[in-house]
Amino acid sequence: MPLPADYHMHTPLCRHAIGEPTELAAQAVRAGLDEIGFSDHNPMPEDDFDNWRMRVAQLDEYVAKVEAARRAWPALTIKLALEVDYLPGREDWIRNLADRYPWDYFIGSVHYVSENWDIDNPHKLSEWKSRDPFEVWTAYFQRLTLAAESGLFEIIGHADLCKKFCFYPREDCTPLFTQFLQAASRSGVAIELNTAGLRKECKEIYPSPAFLQLAARHKVPITFGSDAHAPAEVGMNFAEAVQLARACGYTQCCRFAARRREMLSI
Ligand SMILES: [Zn+2]
Ligand SMILES: [Zn+2]
Repeated sequence: MPLPADYHMHTPLCRHAIGEPTELAAQAVRAGLDEIGFSDHNPMPEDDFDNWRMRVAQLDEYVAKVEAARRAWPALTIKLALEVDYLPGREDWIRNLADRYPWDYFIGSVHYVSENWDIDNPHKLSEWKSRDPFEVWTAYFQRLTLAAESGLFEIIGHADLCKKFCFYPREDCTPLFTQFLQAASRSGVAIELNTAGLRKECKEIYPSPAFLQLAARHKVPITFGSDAHAPAEVGMNFAEAVQLARACGYTQCCRFAARRREMLSI
């Protein structure tokens, strides 16, 4: 069985990744993958929204870089996508982006729990230290649930990103997971097994085994992503991720083309 597609990869346009798409594609071939997808951080209408995404005027360049990788590696299937920040009230901007290019899928991610706090930003750890983790997790999953309900995304990114720095609530978070998974199940959106969590303080794939077991029970489909910000990270820990998915009850994952889903065995 070939490894599943790596659907979460970044490019230098987002200002915190290295390796051009052709180089990431080369690594994918070396790692034995037959399909990948580029999903760099989406631009915002305001180019100074933050400092970790491409600017609007760079979208053409982004698409051209992905097309160049396709030409350089014709035996590898390369999908065109974005990782899109979900912030309530900005849905029209996401629709605007969706109309611009022939995207294969959008990953909807929550990094911001308010207009100015991106909870995974290591420069903003002081915010975590001044808050109750359960309040942050609750705000995070409320937004993630809205993202799942929005119908704007094929995949929800790193669904328990709030564990990144190990600020775990004492309270039981199962109701938060369940609320999100019910919404995901109703709208047919997939979640990803994101292996970047293994490279962070939490040292665990996003989402956790308990979360994934619950997701399998709610019949929420899955994809796989390394969240590569460098060529060496492409396809990283995928064998472990597949093993985890199977252990949690999954026998299939999905792929996307032109925003349509196809199921494959894992
Ligand atoms: Zn990033
Ligand atoms: Zn992300």
